[in-house]
Amino acid sequence: MDPQNSYSIAPPAPLPGGHFNVPRSVEDLYTPRFVRGVGRDKAGLCPICYEPKARGGAGKAEWLSMKFSAFNYHMQYAHGISPTTQLPFSPPIAFRRIDRKANHKNEKLQLLEGQCHRCHDWMPVEGVKCVEAKLKEIYWWKHAAQCHKGSTIEGETDVHLVDDFSAQVREAYRLAQNQAQQQASSASASSTSVTRPRAVASAESNSLPTTALFTTTPLR
Ligand SMILES: [Zn+2]
Ligand SMILES: [Zn+2]
Repeated sequence: MDPQNSYSIAPPAPLPGGHFNVPRSVEDLYTPRFVRGVGRDKAGLCPICYEPKARGGAGKAEWLSMKFSAFNYHMQYAHGISPTTQLPFSPPIAFRRIDRKANHKNEKLQLLEGQCHRCHDWMPVEGVKCVEAKLKEIYWWKHAAQCHKGSTIEGETDVHLVDDFSAQVREAYRLAQNQAQQQASSASASSTSVTRPRAVASAESNSLPTTALFTTTPLR
């Protein structure tokens, strides 16, 4: 059996704990789907680490403080996800190798640089030391995090794995969104004096909400 088609879209059992938290769209790779605690103790579950390894995750529940930016830092510098777009930072538009003067025998004589689509500067995409970085992308992500500000390369697309599983998830989101909209319109039809917010977030609820899971942000 193809392992990529063997997943159910039912929540994994057991659930990671905490409260369900509303993502901005089905393609949102940033927003934690589960949060727990309040105030200083508020933590979010990394939605990428929680995915199985076969789907690019780490297969573990990684809870990170939302109050002290640990969550934000993790998403940007462990996964390269922009908090502004909720999608991966745009990659360099070009690469080049430049010669450099080594100050120590452990330093490289050439450095790989990437060009940024936004500022057009060339930035090092590797360290100067002759050692393998644990996470090579970190050099680029650090630049992107302070430069891109939500800007992406025009026409950039295909950042999500497209398979049967993702099609099921998209369909589940679409149905839930329709249901939420229908409930909102029938509620407003039955009561003209009360204004109901559309797509109410259920993050404070103790149980998984059955409706109104999603905001009305259009999918890309
Ligand atoms: Zn993670
Ligand atoms: Zn830049």
